[in-house]
Amino acid sequence: MEIYPTEMRMAGPCTGCGVQVTSPLPIDLELTDASDIAKWPEVYVPPFACEACSTIWPLGELPCVYRNDQWAALILDGPLSAIEILTRIGNWIIPTEVRIGAARIVRVFDSMMEFSYVLRHPECSLFREDLKGRVTHHWDEEVTTLVDIADAALENEIEWLSYVILAGVVQDYPEFFFIPEMRNALEIAALASGTDPLPISMETSRSAIDEYQEMVAALEPHRPLPELDAYSIWYDAPLDQKTGQPLEGSGGRVIRRSPAALDLYKVWLRILAAGAFLRHELSRKGQPATMRLKESLVEQKFLAVWPGLVAYERAEVDAYFRELTGTSLRQSHGLDF
Ligand SMILES: [Zn+2]
Repeated sequence: MEIYPTEMRMAGPCTGCGVQVTSPLPIDLELTDASDIAKWPEVYVPPFACEACSTIWPLGELPCVYRNDQWAALILDGPLSAIEILTRIGNWIIPTEVRIGAARIVRVFDSMMEFSYVLRHPECSLFREDLKGRVTHHWDEEVTTLVDIADAALENEIEWLSYVILAGVVQDYPEFFFIPEMRNALEIAALASGTDPLPISMETSRSAIDEYQEMVAALEPHRPLPELDAYSIWYDAPLDQKTGQPLEGSGGRVIRRSPAALDLYKVWLRILAAGAFLRHELSRKGQPATMRLKESLVEQKFLAVWPGLVAYERAEVDAYFRELTGTSLRQSHGLDF
């Protein structure tokens, strides 16, 4: 049976000596001894090294795939977006799943430096991220801040507010639904809110669970690369065992796009509104209500960008804030227009 129906080969002169070199693309390390790979870059294994002059990467850096009994790996050859990486995994690794084993784990490494370090030091500490959580714009800080405020609402038994805070963001920006941390928090909040009607739902009989299930039904079919659902895909950066820091020369090769500026400001305003609603509800319950640290950092960032906004941008974000809270930024934050 053909295992790599789409196998490609690279050919060209060695950058060191000019001899013609060929290489499969990706380079499959399955038949290379792991103990040899662990010696990178000293190891002499074509096509890592030119057979004539031993130049490493005679055709330039190339992507590699690897698998053992526990996991498979993709080693990157340069900066790529998470979607591009997941697509490569879908093309190069998943079709060979019979050899990945039951764990269904794919680990992504920036380069052979990180990969060989992990083979040398299997117990080393890692900075690990869920790569599927990086397919959206770069919303990390906003997500942790929203989840922080939503968690505070949950802890204070204002479950519906926790749900409304998170669901509101997803309704405006559906891509948040595909960020695992956000999705988990939203599901927890929906379950905690239960089947009671939401106090501020447009339709009086709607519960958080009803709304959440509708949201799942509407958004799930749009999730990126559903064929990877059964796999855990981790972006692993080993930490130096001596220093506890990332390896020297290690660089994040998973590229993420920043959100458009106005979208970013609107999500910041959602965070400020969420914090204000939480304080309002807490004080109604007679509980202490202070601004949370993460929220105040967002407020500082918003106040810092405000002077640079042009008139239409100020009008647009103010209209958004009014929609969320019923008050203007002039009233709530004393901003000039
Ligand atoms: Zn050469």
